[in-house]
Parts: sequence; C-alpha cells; structure tokens
Amino acid sequence: MFSNKDSFKECFLKRLESMCGKGFEESTTRDKYHTLGNMVREYISSKWIETNERYRSESQKQVYYLSIEFLLGRLLGQNLLNLQIKDIVEEGLKELNISLSEIEECESDPALGNGGLGRLAACFLDSLATLNLPGHGYGIRYKHGLFDQKIVDGYQVELPEQWLRHGNVWEVRKPDESVEISFWGRVEASTHNGGLTFKHVDAQKVLAVPYDMPVVGFEVSTVNTLRLWNAEPETFSPHQDILSYKRETEAITDFLYPDDTYDEGKILRLKQQYFLVSASIQSIIASFKKERSNLRELHQHVAIHINDTHPAMAVPELMRILIDVEGLSWDEAWEVTSQTVSYTNHTILAEALEKWPIHLFKPLLPRIYMIIEEINERFCAELWAKYPGDWHRIEHMAIIAHGLVKMAHLAIVGSSSINGVAKIHSNILKNREMKSFYEFYPWKFNNKTNGISHRRWLLKANPELTALIKNTIGEEWVRSPEKLIDLKNHLHQSSLIEQFAAVKRKRKEILANKIAEKNGIIVDLDSIFDVQVKRLHAYKRQLLNVLHIMYLYNRLKEDVNYTIQPRTFIFGAKASPTYYYAKKIIKLIHSLAEKVNKDPRVSKVIKVVFMENYRVSLAEGIFPAADVSEQISTASKEASGTGNMKFMMNGALTVGTLDGANIEMMEEIGKENIFTFGLTANDVLKYEENGRYRSMEYYHHDQRIRQVVDQLTNGFFSEDEGEFESIADSLLVQNDQYFVLRDFASYIDVQEKVGLAYQDRNDWYEKALINISHSGLFSSDRTISQYADDIWKISPSYVKG
Ligand SMILES: *Cc1c(COP(=O)(O)O)cnc(C)c1O
Repeated sequence: MFSNKDSFKECFLKRLESMCGKGFEESTTRDKYHTLGNMVREYISSKWIETNERYRSESQKQVYYLSIEFLLGRLLGQNLLNLQIKDIVEEGLKELNISLSEIEECESDPALGNGGLGRLAACFLDSLATLNLPGHGYGIRYKHGLFDQKIVDGYQVELPEQWLRHGNVWEVRKPDESVEISFWGRVEASTHNGGLTFKHVDAQKVLAVPYDMPVVGFEVSTVNTLRLWNAEPETFSPHQDILSYKRETEAITDFLYPDDTYDEGKILRLKQQYFLVSASIQSIIASFKKERSNLRELHQHVAIHINDTHPAMAVPELMRILIDVEGLSWDEAWEVTSQTVSYTNHTILAEALEKWPIHLFKPLLPRIYMIIEEINERFCAELWAKYPGDWHRIEHMAIIAHGLVKMAHLAIVGSSSINGVAKIHSNILKNREMKSFYEFYPWKFNNKTNGISHRRWLLKANPELTALIKNTIGEEWVRSPEKLIDLKNHLHQSSLIEQFAAVKRKRKEILANKIAEKNGIIVDLDSIFDVQVKRLHAYKRQLLNVLHIMYLYNRLKEDVNYTIQPRTFIFGAKASPTYYYAKKIIKLIHSLAEKVNKDPRVSKVIKVVFMENYRVSLAEGIFPAADVSEQISTASKEASGTGNMKFMMNGALTVGTLDGANIEMMEEIGKENIFTFGLTANDVLKYEENGRYRSMEYYHHDQRIRQVVDQLTNGFFSEDEGEFESIADSLLVQNDQYFVLRDFASYIDVQEKVGLAYQDRNDWYEKALINISHSGLFSSDRTISQYADDIWKISPSYVKG
C-alpha cells in the first residue's frame, strides 16, 4: 500500500471510492483525509498487534502513564513521518494534484489538555514508543477538549471544541474490555475467616469503555497504546430515572476542565479523576492476570506513573482491588502498591495543590475514602514514632486534616518515587515546599528535567531547518538528538549562518502570511519576531511584556529621534474562562495592539499581534519563526516550562528569568547565549518570607513605571477608564504579587541589549545555532530514558532478528 508511490496512488483512489461512495472528482478534502487516515491506521495495525504480542511473549515489565490530559496535536503528519512513508504519500498525492499539507489541515487538533502538563504527556508517549519501551498512556476521551478561543472586540469568548464531530480515524473502540466504575452507595463490613472484609453496596455503576489509539515510534516497529476511557450508562440499569442517569453518566467524559495550574474543587472533576483511575487500574490488573497469578509480584512487572496528583487515587484504588477483590492483607497490598506507583509533581503554586473537602469526597467514594483514612492513620502513627509529641509536624504532613484530603500528601506517601521537573523545581520541593516529606523519605525524591519531542517540534514543525541540519552534520542526530552538538563544528562557516538566516526568514514569511490572513496585519520580515505563547497566567507575566511595549511606545512618541530595531510582538494565550484577571490581560493586549498598530509612525517600528486559539497545530507554525522567546515568569514559579525548549530547538534566543529549565538551558549554552534578567528564585522566596517588597516604591521612584501604570487607568486606551483598573490594582493596591514592577527596569535593560544584539546579524545567528546545537539535552528521549532507568526500571524491547 505504501511501498511506492504508484501502488499508493492506486490504493488511495480505490479506497477513496469505496469509503466515500464518490468518484475522485467529487470528493472533498475531508474525504481524502478520511481515506488516507484509514489507510495509515490499517498500515499501523499489524505493527500494533505485533508489538502487543511481543510484550506478552517477552513478559517485560510494563509502565502505565496515567494522565488526566494528553495534548496530542494532529496525528496524520507525525504518523507518516514516524512510519517513514511521508515522502511516498506526499509525492503520490502531488501527482494527483493534492497537497498533503491541505489534507493535514483537515484533521481536528485533539486538545485533550490545557498546556504544558498535557503536552509533556504527549511527548512522553512519542519517546516511549521511539525508544521501544513498553509504556502506555491512560487518559480520558473527552467529547469536548479545551475550548476554542474566539476574540470578539478584544475579549476572549469560549466555544465548545468539537474534535469528534467528523469521527476519529485513529481510535479503536474495545467494548469487550469495558469495566464498571462504582460511585456513591455505602460500605458494608462483615467478618470472614476471622478477618474483616468490605463490600461497596448500593453503588451507582457506570461503564468505562476503552478507545485505543496507536502510538507509533519513529523509524521502529514499536506501536504502543494510548487508551482513552469513555463513560457510558450500563445497559441493564436498575435506576428509576433512566434519563438523568444517562445524562449524569455521560457528563463524566463530556468536557475537559479548562483550568491550567488551578484546583477546580468540583465534584464532577473528582468523578473524572476516579473514573480514569478505577478504569485504568482495573484494566492493568486484568492484563496482568492474563499472564500471571501472583499479585504480590505486581510491582516486579508493572509500574504505574501518575502525572501530577489528578490520578493520585491510583494508590487507594490499587489497595482496594488488592484487598477487597484479590484477598491480599493490608500489609501485602501496601508493599505492592507503594512499590508500583510513582509520582511527578508539576507545581508549587498553592492554588494548584489539590485538596478535596471530606463532605464531597466521602459520599461519592465511600470505600476509597475509608482506605485513605487507614493509610493516613498508619502514616501518622509512623510519624509519631519518629517525632513523638511533634503534633505540629504531624498535622502539617497528614493526608487528611481540617476537613480536607490532600492529594499531594497521598501521592507522596503512596509512591516509591517523587520527582520534580527541573533542577531548581526539585530543589525547591526538597528544601521548602515538601521539606518535611523529604526529611522523612529522602530516598524517594529525585529530579527529571522535562523534555520535548524533537520529532514533533523540529522534524515535523520545521522541515526547512531539519533539512539544513541534515545537510550540515548528517542524520545521526535524528535518532540521537544529543548529536546536534556537532553543529558547533560548523559555526565558523559563513555558509551555515547564511543558510540558517534564510531558513529563519522563510519561516517568518510563512507566519507573516498567516498573520496577514488571520489578523489582517502586515508585519516586517526584518523586524525581530518577539514571541510569548503559553497559557495566560499572572505568574507567567504577560503583563511585564505588555508594559515593556507600552514603554517603547511612549519613548517613540516622546522622542522623534529615538530609534530601535523594529519588532513584532506576537502573543498567543488562552485564559481559563473563570480567570478574571487573565481575561483582562487578553483585552489589554488587544487594546495595546489597536493603539500601536494604528499609530502611523510607531507602527513602522513595532507591531503587536495576538494570534487567536493557541494550540499545538498553531504552535507548530510559531516556534520555527521566532527570533526571541519570552520566558519571563516570576522566578521560582514556573516548574520547568517546555515552550522554552521548543524555541531553543528552533533557534530563537531566550529572554528569561532564572526559573525552571531556563537555568539548565543557560548552563548548557553559556550566559552569553541567553538574555537573563530579574530577581532570582531565592530573592523572590526571601521577599515572600520577609514581606519587605513594596511595589509602590518602584512606582514612585521610576518615572517610566509611573507612566505606564497610570496609562492603564487615565484614558490612554480608548476603552472606559475603569477597564484595566483591576490590573493597576493588582500592581499597586495588591502589592504586585508577581514582582512585575520589581523586575521592570531589569527587563527594559535586557530588552535593549536584545535589540542591539540583533543588529550584529552574524553574531545573532551564531548564538541561535549554539542554542540549537545544545537543545538535544532537552529532548524527551533523554527525559524518558531517565524515567525508565531510575524510576520505572524498564528496558527496551526489540524485534529479534
Ligand atoms: C508547549 C506548549 C505549552 C507549554 O508552554 P509553556 O511555555 O511551557 O507554558 C502550552 N500549550 C501548547 C499548545 C504547547 O505546545
């Protein structure tokens, strides 16, 4: 089917007719997408079956990665690339006068995640399969992924996302492997052979139906599985009100919660979490039992990883099954569970730490709550033995306290490994946020700096740069991204610099065309493309970027002789629908864009562009075109960041705080190849402790700050004067929690350096190439190898012979 372009063409045309019931001439682009997608999935299926058989026959240890989000992005292009059939397909289609990229655009971008956390999970799946590691994802098949963002009069409006409207060619429904999930009801205790046994009775039951999606490794025969669960009513339901039962059941997998690093303490969210966990653990146990019988050895054959605390109920759910269903003793079950589960912490922001009120938790999940209580009691007894009389410490570390279940504590106590996602983040966990847990369990804590798949963010997103690197250093780096370092041997060649400059320009042109089409703004290709794309959040400080642009505007207006290197400021960001402040910042960016882009003189040197509906497919067009990467979070608040790595890999220079993985990027490339500024994490944490920061002082003592902050409320923008008052208040009345004004001067200074540095063209592109050459360290292949070796203890499985 894909052996050469002629057989591909023949097969494609035949398939198009049989699948769509139309001739070639009448078929739509969607028909063609559908046909090609089905052909590719069929091509994958034999490898998929073979992989599963290989895992079974080799009885390898398996890892299951549980995540409430998987931000996959479109799959057709990536699958074609990984299967090494992209060229055949592209050329075959070309001879039929069809553009592959047009067909790719037809695929909906499955946005089953909010941002970094979900995208990390997607990159990890890609790396697991490519490294031939037996690892599978478990998630939720949300009917509606993250909302589609529309901008109306500068305001964000959310529309329901509909990725399943035209079906999903990649999934296979497996109704035979459905499992039952129990909510509500009560627990009945009885004595049995002298011991207590527990039964969850009068429960409302819901069916979890798996939809499996293939995860294709790059240039290998491994195809792993992403299993997404769908909630469906049971056929023979004893319930009286069948309609409300159906509605309630389907609601479980209807929507992805649109919050990024914020704990939505809603009961439906708790239901989603238990639904994912219970379905996944039951499925893991069922597949274990097909091959083996002794569940006391589960941890030798299975590792279960929880991506943040959302799936932390994996701990009590595994305990429940081992004890209530499989008949293990508590101690046996605990030994197995705590050695099977491992946990990644993603944030130290207090508002993101999940805590469930007992009054919500206990009625919905009575048996799970009971098990958590028992885990808590035993844990507190251990603490008491080690720290007798230290009530304060025990209260602080308990899993249940003050009417709340603390999911992070549950995850730590029930796991064999707890990792942070960048060196600084892991250190803050050990030395501050989770210090008491680190003192109690020092061996559990470790760091695994995040990474990104260079297959999506370089090979797929930037074929022009990929070709240039291949021409320069060969192809070894494609399999071993650390080999990108070889680029350094070619830096002295002006031809490399020139070719890279040409690639960058080409990608800027592609993005500029998109901006012209979508925003109606014409941007200057010689300007610096200065980009901040990420979720909108106060700690990420899009506001600092905005204030810098306002400052530049003021300078340009006040002084006709003031000259700067022209810049195009590009933003992309979704705000959580209930996050008032974040939505205001979106409006502010639009008001600023209006002001700047409409000014006849200022708009010649700066432009402001907000790209609507930031998501993976849009991101793939943005990173390759960036000159400057804005990574300006308040130091200590961004756990790692992964956007920073995507920019680096595409040769943008970072303007960043010493936060998250920015620090490790700097260690790799050297201070001279990154623009850092602002408070350090220690400075911030000290201020937070001693409370000595006064934003008002910076307002009063820096005229530039006073001017831009005043402009938020003095009618400078054409909106009502009250429109941005809450933003001004956050800076002055609320004492600027994220130190925007504190870092303002330092940011202005570093941005001036950026503008000057860009004018030394050779030096700039050399720095960009140095960034690329060191970006191999930030491949998720490196990250996943470390998880495999240190945490999961799994090894690759190859096809023999
Ligand atoms: C990489 C990525 C993110 C994470 O970006 P950060 O800058 O690390 O916050 C969010 N959304 C999308 C679509 C991404 O591709």
